[in-house]
Amino acid sequence: MLDYLIIGLGLAGVSICEQLDKKVATYKVINDTSQTSSIVAGGLYNPVILKRFTMAWNSKSQLEMAGPFYASLEKKFNVTLDHNLSVMRRFASVEEQNMWFEASDKKELSEFLSPKIINNDNPNIDAPFGYGEVLNTGRIDTALLISTYKEFLIEKDRLVQETFSHDDLRLEDDSVHYKSIRAKRIIFAEGFGLSKNPYFNYLPLTSTKGEYLVIKAPKLQETRAIKSSIFLIPWGNDIYRVGATYKWKDTLNAPTETSKIELMMKLEKFLKCDYEVIDQLAGIRPTVTDRRPLVGQHPKYKNAFVLNGFGSRGVLIAPFASKQLVQSIEENKPIHPEMDIVRFIEKFVAN
Ligand SMILES: Cc1cc2nc3c(=O)[nH]c(=O)nc-3n(C[C@H](O)[C@H](O)[C@H](O)COP(=O)(O)OP(=O)(O)OC[C@H]3O[C@@H](n4cnc5c(N)ncnc54)[C@H](O)[C@@H]3O)c2cc1C
Repeated sequence: MLDYLIIGLGLAGVSICEQLDKKVATYKVINDTSQTSSIVAGGLYNPVILKRFTMAWNSKSQLEMAGPFYASLEKKFNVTLDHNLSVMRRFASVEEQNMWFEASDKKELSEFLSPKIINNDNPNIDAPFGYGEVLNTGRIDTALLISTYKEFLIEKDRLVQETFSHDDLRLEDDSVHYKSIRAKRIIFAEGFGLSKNPYFNYLPLTSTKGEYLVIKAPKLQETRAIKSSIFLIPWGNDIYRVGATYKWKDTLNAPTETSKIELMMKLEKFLKCDYEVIDQLAGIRPTVTDRRPLVGQHPKYKNAFVLNGFGSRGVLIAPFASKQLVQSIEENKPIHPEMDIVRFIEKFVAN
């Protein structure tokens, strides 16, 4: 009998496996390719909401935890996952510059917003009002993380590459049974796939589709991530990611022509050199109506758990939320009340 069966190997699944390894727990993961969010993600981590110049929820403590978390994965697999990357907020007006100054003066933000206005020195970018620099930012190579983790699990015979069928799951008081697998507990980390999960589909998970263009722009020569109405993220070898979009109705992972046009129009508002679109990527962010993760125990089936709802901030939230979930199961510690799915108990009762 295994200690855990985990469904899904995106950022949520990987981070759960890591926490379980620390507890020397045994587990298997079942994963398919139905969701792509963690693979197409830009992987940026940045504790500040750059639209409003406010701190993202709980981001300071998440950032403190994320650094050592990804560093330990780099060491474990001997790969580079964490890339130092400055994030420059392009100002659209003097008013925005003033808002930035005001924000950078606030106690909680001063650590993350440089108070200096930085003039643009790249002739291929139009930024007449300059930039504000966000401090303590970077990019995690999430695609490399997931593929490396897959290989690791395959080597340890801990990965089943198939679609989990909820109909074949039997939950008993002290165990869960799925085909030939028996485990003490099951953790669902399915991203937007949760919408098909009959145990947890009472939770208010919604989809926010995101698309990126991958462009080649040899003349651009930019090493920092530029945040205008969209991000321009350097990817090395004259390649950049441009995006992402936010769409709430389309739940398919396929790229669309509409988003391509939207992103090109936004890009051309500040990019002044030639570029070529070489690829387009799409994924569904698992978003929650109250913008907080979904973490915790099923109200009725006490050996079924969920880790989801990371929205657009999976890189920072995953280490924090997974640690809380495992500590709640193994050490009976409380989950942060804003993440605990107990907050939706009325929806379960009404279901
Ligand atoms: C375009 C885009 C850009 C983004 N950029 C950033 C960024 O810069 N920084 C950041 O922090 N976040 C970013 N995000 C958000 C981040 O990607 C998500 O928060 C995160 O990936 C969610 O991880 P997850 O593991 O919960 O879900 P997912 O990545 O969707 O993983 C779920 C896994 O479960 C599998 N699965 C689902 N159902 C089943 C089933 N029935 N059987 C077997 N397997 C199943 C799926 O195939 C998938 O492998 C971005 C997202 C998108 C779409």
